[in-house]
Amino acid sequence: MFKAYEFVDKPTYEKLGDEAIKLMDTNLLLTVMEIRRILDMPMIINDWYFGKSFQQRGYRSPESNIGAPKSAHRLGKAVDFDAYLKGVRQEPDKIREKIIKNRTRLPYLAGLELGINWVHIDTMQRSGYEQGKILTFYPEAGKAKWI
Ligand SMILES: [Zn+2]
Repeated sequence: MFKAYEFVDKPTYEKLGDEAIKLMDTNLLLTVMEIRRILDMPMIINDWYFGKSFQQRGYRSPESNIGAPKSAHRLGKAVDFDAYLKGVRQEPDKIREKIIKNRTRLPYLAGLELGINWVHIDTMQRSGYEQGKILTFYPEAGKAKWI
């Protein structure tokens, strides 16, 4: 089961405690939980709570200067994660492949970023949306494709 501190940074968690979960989109939480079931592997979103460095891979507060200003992370509609099998970090491309293969189990998945060394998923709709479609996109603006 995921904890609120996995989805927010330290200052936000210090302010809100477990209530910080309210900053996250319900559809995003459902999607993350289903991906966890599909992968059947531990997933790491933020790990600052355990003394490590990730803090900005879920919700990004207005004070955060990480990433794009209009990013789904700012709406609580995105997470970045890595998945581990027996302690070994899995290739993000392999994880994305599994996600796409199981897409019918992920009706709220709206965005999947490609070409990055972690997995970004989101539930933020964009113009051009069609039911059941996922927008795959690259960090470089304008390079995107509905699948
Ligand atoms: Zn991201």
